[in-house]
Amino acid sequence: MKVIKTENHIIMTSEITDPKYICISECKKVWWDSDIHIDASILETPICPMCGGPLRAASKEDYECLN
Ligand SMILES: [Zn+2]
Repeated sequence: MKVIKTENHIIMTSEITDPKYICISECKKVWWDSDIHIDASILETPICPMCGGPLRAASKEDYECLN
């Protein structure tokens, strides 16, 4: 399990990899591939499952791993 701290959230996840996306809209949560169901034929940009905002690729500066 990982505990990830972002600007607005502390996220506990069963994922063992680093988060792949971060929301650049309201919620600023990080997400993994398993959270995002992208239909690439419709969407060019993945959409945040929580607030519907756009996501971008997460980098190490976007979050802190607490464990
Ligand atoms: Zn969001």
